[in-house]
Amino acid sequence: MTPCHACGETARPIEGVVFRDFDGSLFSRAGVIRHCAACGLGAVDTGLSDAEIARHYADDCLYVEMTGVGVGGNTPEDLARYGHYAAIVAPQVDEIAAKAGLVDVGCSRGGMLRDFRARPPGLPLTGIDLDETSLASLEEAGIAAKAGSALDLPLETGSQSMLSYLHVFEHILDTDAVLAEASRVLAADGLILVEVPDAADYGAADARVGTMFWLAMKEHVYHFTERSLTAILARNGFAVLDAVRSHLPMRAGKAYPALTILARKRSDVAAIPLPAPAEPDTALPDHIAAESHAFAEQERALSAFIARHEHLAFWGMSLEFLALWARLGDRLKDAHGVRLFDGNAGKQRLTVDGVAIGPAGPPQPSEGLIVCAYMASEAIMREALRLGWDADDILVLE
Ligand SMILES: [Zn+2]
Repeated sequence: MTPCHACGETARPIEGVVFRDFDGSLFSRAGVIRHCAACGLGAVDTGLSDAEIARHYADDCLYVEMTGVGVGGNTPEDLARYGHYAAIVAPQVDEIAAKAGLVDVGCSRGGMLRDFRARPPGLPLTGIDLDETSLASLEEAGIAAKAGSALDLPLETGSQSMLSYLHVFEHILDTDAVLAEASRVLAADGLILVEVPDAADYGAADARVGTMFWLAMKEHVYHFTERSLTAILARNGFAVLDAVRSHLPMRAGKAYPALTILARKRSDVAAIPLPAPAEPDTALPDHIAAESHAFAEQERALSAFIARHEHLAFWGMSLEFLALWARLGDRLKDAHGVRLFDGNAGKQRLTVDGVAIGPAGPPQPSEGLIVCAYMASEAIMREALRLGWDADDILVLE
């Protein structure tokens, strides 16, 4: 029996996972999702360590060349998200401004810091990330940037008034170590702002990204609920001031379920209330069952499409593609000449099972095109038609 990482109750294995990543990636591995019905936490166990994961973000990560939640960009959707954070922080902003300001841990390209710099009261701002390429762009924008890890912050003990961790906690196994380090660098009564995907709402009809989207997130080692994150914060001496569950915008009119928590460091850990017991939380297993059903339908549509084509091309080397390839890659690669397309120059340096990724091109005879990017499918469709692909030879995964 495995105890739940968040609440200590029993965590039971509910689903096997097989991740396929670009060649050489440490994430090409199998494991299991364990779920705790008491607090709702899902923990993905593939045997990775935080040290291995940290090396990935420092050395291999492509966030600097990507768009999406968590890479610190400045798309209209990113700006809406930063407004959401600003509203949650607003009641405390004078307090933070009067002290040391805000440090964004895992800031990536620092989109939120750039946005906050333009908002009154002009907080002192610092970004910290493992990825030094991302930090360089922040420094060019005139914002303080430091290389460092959430597990070893380059900050003096007791020196800070507020730390933010936006889409960081779901990437690190030892959340207690992250919070111990936060506690070390924060002054008494310091604040933290944490956002993670809200696993209790993965299945929300108006915030569903696409088939198997969250389960295919190979970098996510936890699927958090409000109860599970609150329990982890409480035992590490952080009392929740505000917990906001919302659906925040993503590209292509999509949305994702977000859990944003503002918490304050307290010296009297024993006095921090724990989340009240509740009914068994089955949101994650229910979601997995629904997505498995959706994936089986996707596979049926694919099989019919494949039967009509001798060759296949896949456009969009996204997690959607990798999730598909994890299950069907061996079959597809052996039976068909496969081409892999992506417009991202960083991805064009990579391979999947030895197949090189290149820029998209016109169709070859009897070749079907499978579009695997939930948030870019319309743009890819337009470009494919322009390149001479026939609409009947294109399958868009949803
Ligand atoms: Zn639990």
